[in-house]
Amino acid sequence: MISKKPIDIPCTLQERKVLEKIALAAQGLGVPAYLIGGFVRDKLLERRTKDMDVVCVGDGIALAHAVAESLGEQVPVNFFKTYGTAQIKWNDLEIEFVGARKESYRQHSRNPEVMAGTLRDDQLRRDFTINALAISLNDDDYGTLLDPFNGLADLEQKIIRTPLEPAQTFSDDPLRMMRAIRFASQLQFNISEPAFTAIQENAERIKIISQERITDELNKIMLSAKPSVGLDLLYKGGLLKIIFPQMIDLVGVETQDGKGHKDNFYHTLQVIDNIARNTHDLWLRWAALLHDIGKPATKKFEPGHGWTFHGHDAVGGKMVPRIFARLKLPQHEKMRLVKKLVELHLRPIGLTKENITDSAIRRLLFDAGDDIDALMMLCEADITSKNKAKVKRYLENFELVRQRLKEVEESDRIRNWQPPVTGELIMETFGLSPCRQVGDLKNAIREAILDGEIANTYEAAYAFMLEKAKAFNLTPVK
Ligand code: ATP
Repeated sequence: MISKKPIDIPCTLQERKVLEKIALAAQGLGVPAYLIGGFVRDKLLERRTKDMDVVCVGDGIALAHAVAESLGEQVPVNFFKTYGTAQIKWNDLEIEFVGARKESYRQHSRNPEVMAGTLRDDQLRRDFTINALAISLNDDDYGTLLDPFNGLADLEQKIIRTPLEPAQTFSDDPLRMMRAIRFASQLQFNISEPAFTAIQENAERIKIISQERITDELNKIMLSAKPSVGLDLLYKGGLLKIIFPQMIDLVGVETQDGKGHKDNFYHTLQVIDNIARNTHDLWLRWAALLHDIGKPATKKFEPGHGWTFHGHDAVGGKMVPRIFARLKLPQHEKMRLVKKLVELHLRPIGLTKENITDSAIRRLLFDAGDDIDALMMLCEADITSKNKAKVKRYLENFELVRQRLKEVEESDRIRNWQPPVTGELIMETFGLSPCRQVGDLKNAIREAILDGEIANTYEAAYAFMLEKAKAFNLTPVK
């Protein structure tokens, strides 16, 4: 029987029920068990979490099976014999079981030699003090927080420290450098000075980590409330130049004839923070990160005028597929969205001038399609002036653009538009098989509609097609 002293963390009824089942199963097997790691940390911080980590001084897989059986309903256990870990999914909880272990690392690998150990050995192998907190699930001290490295104090002081000597921690498993920065960004914590120095000294070792794991952490940084915190730490810690050198090319201000340009790196970080206030969408955040990535390659000083970055939108767009490939980010739909937003990010600014024709608005609607709102959000995030009056004016201008976009979309329905005359109809009308003339004719119809030369109707497009065909020496077959 387990004495049900309330556990030290705010758990739901369902979580309490599971924890009691784990406690009973562990008692049945005669193995001490503890709740440990991210779940304890996040509960203490009152953050949402559904991933429970359980460590036991014994066989984690056997404990998982015993718990699954006691939960009934034929709960499946996924287990990995080589690693001695097992996982159960129950309702919306994911529970990981592992036997307490001691680890020792070799120089060229992040795979340690592993042997059975005590709870303290297991806490010592954890990356940060705030991740080494454990709560007993055992009869004699059920619910007690076991905190040998003062993780609770570090949680309160918002500090990321390593239980072991930091240089050792990061050299053993360099992914921990990314994790430290990710937690700093996610939780808005500071990294302790010795730990940050150790990151700077060990940054090169990140090269032994797989790109997938690095990118996983990078995406978590991108999804944090203020991604600039993590990105700046990646830069200052010396990791960014290894994992994402194109970003480093944005750093700095050059001055010529007394004229400087803005620091495009810090401008970019501000743009990401701005967009992060409005959307959780990872890919819009990536578009913000990459919107000016073409600037270093297009930078020129024009005497009498100043710094220019002509064509940085198109050049930046072209860089996106390579960057995504190198970072092992998705290669299809999401990459195309980011590329498109980077390519189009200057277009709405062009529409803030006076006397903008409907056809210019229609063209943007056609090019942006369903991503027009995302594009406008990026453009608004791109305003980083410190001058409040200027920001207000720019935002008002964009509001007018939004208004025009709405009006033109309501009257012309361009967003998901397909020209009313298809390639098939052109081929059928003139007895053609697929050839260049079909494409040319189709493009001419589309351009005429976008330019407002003809109405966006089948009748107008068909009449235009017949007229235009004469110039191509085509006559209808019937
Ligand atoms: P999140 O769920 O946000 O990724 P987490 O801390 O729960 O955060 P997990 O990757 O699920 O991260 O890891 C669970 C626990 O395992 C951590 O809290 C930590 O104690 C330990 N851990 C994870 N990765 C490492 C590592 N690279 N080195 C040492 N300990 C680690």
